[in-house]
Amino acid sequence: MAEIKIKEFDKTAYKCNKCGHVWFSRGDERPLTCPKCKTARWDKEPRKKKD
Ligand SMILES: [Zn+2]
Repeated sequence: MAEIKIKEFDKTAYKCNKCGHVWFSRGDERPLTCPKCKTARWDKEPRKKKD
């Protein structure tokens, strides 16, 4: 198997669970907020249950 690296894909895609916005970010650090709706909980699954 050949190892193929594509620089264009050296990005991580993030999706906001609140507004559905998808964006790309370089590096390993997760964005703190969604660039569109500015929520800090963009990576949290919307849940209605309360523990
Ligand atoms: Zn958002």
